[in-house]
Amino acid sequence: MTEKVLKLLNQSDLRITAVRKDVLSVFLNADCAITTATIEAALYQIDRITLYRTLKSFEEKGLIHSINDGSHNTKYALCEGHCDEDHHHDEHVHFHCNACGNTFCIEESSVPTISLPSGYRVENASVIVNGICNKC
Ligand SMILES: [Zn+2]
Ligand SMILES: [Zn+2]
Ligand SMILES: [Zn+2]
Repeated sequence: MTEKVLKLLNQSDLRITAVRKDVLSVFLNADCAITTATIEAALYQIDRITLYRTLKSFEEKGLIHSINDGSHNTKYALCEGHCDEDHHHDEHVHFHCNACGNTFCIEESSVPTISLPSGYRVENASVIVNGICNKC
């Protein structure tokens, strides 16, 4: 675990700090997208500002992406490794389970190309699928 955390931080050019290690460990232990509340619950001593800064730096460096699944709480998930600084490629479907409330990255399903009337230009697209996950 620690080894993987250090490797990810090194690859992302992020200075290794205790907070970054701790927050990244929470992501590696999670099997679904998580909210800041989940991280705060796991690391009860973390202060909120530090946590937001840490998440922002992770997102900027292509380590995590944010997901808005309609539940009013932004969720975050690890990127699958092809994201770089300021350049994310997370065009996969997100699945929101109506039973457990968890949201999962479905890397196998990519967001379909949407055809639009002329004059419209896509900058990013996301697909949230609601249903029952394979654990419920
Ligand atoms: Zn990404
Ligand atoms: Zn579920
Ligand atoms: Zn995702």
